[in-house]
Amino acid sequence: MEKLIVTAALTGNVPHRDMTPHVPLTPSEIAADVRRCADAGASLVHIHARDQKGKPTLEKAVFQETARRIKTLAPDIIIQLSTGARAGREWEARATPVRLLPEMASFTTGSNNLPGIVYENAPDFLLFLAGVFQETGVKPEIEIFEAGMISNALFLQQKLLLTPPLHFDFVLGARGAMPGTVKNLVFLADSLPSGSTWTVAGIGAAEIPLATAAIAMGGHVRVGIEDNLRLPDGTLATNAQLVDIVITIAQTMGRDIASPDEARRILSLDPKNKDRILTQID
Ligand code: ZN
Repeated sequence: MEKLIVTAALTGNVPHRDMTPHVPLTPSEIAADVRRCADAGASLVHIHARDQKGKPTLEKAVFQETARRIKTLAPDIIIQLSTGARAGREWEARATPVRLLPEMASFTTGSNNLPGIVYENAPDFLLFLAGVFQETGVKPEIEIFEAGMISNALFLQQKLLLTPPLHFDFVLGARGAMPGTVKNLVFLADSLPSGSTWTVAGIGAAEIPLATAAIAMGGHVRVGIEDNLRLPDGTLATNAQLVDIVITIAQTMGRDIASPDEARRILSLDPKNKDRILTQID
């Protein structure tokens, strides 16, 4: 089995200080938490930006500041920026994180309900954003909330807008999307074209059980406060604690952990692009 890639999703768009004191919000808090997650064994971080009031933003300067601080404190870790819609709906704004040339950015290939919103990713927007990924050479992590989103990704591949091998993230257990069950995870993993890689992000109490299933199945794992606030005993978690739990489970099960460079090889990332984001930081 391939070594395990552990992604830390530190901030997201929803958690705020009233929900947990452990969510990092500012660029310096995020970078310091990335370092702690790297020390715990994460090789990839999924990054959202917040404005000075803690609200989700797609502001270029905030992503730049966050990336600059991460590159200083944890230069080897793979940076994946979010293109999620809670921070803004305008097409170019949502493409901003991709145009900053991180090694990876997230790309949700379809629409569904999420708590309080329609997460809208219409067909013409998918063509637009896939084109930006193609033009920049940034590797998308294709976020799958519903099975039909896999078909949409394969359609974009047919249109030569996505280049295989594709990498997917199954986000399971959000209200409005597919429930976080092992049965759904097995079905989705079996629905991918051969040669694909995948990770799972279980929401809430589904996080650690789905991580454990993914470790056994040969997939990869995303954990963090974006997806789940609590340890299995119900107490509020830090991001590094959630990473540490997954590493311990993997080691107990005999699955080795991928370093950032090993994760680059598994995900077919071009090592030349490792520091490309630094060229986009003023
Ligand atoms: Zn996210």
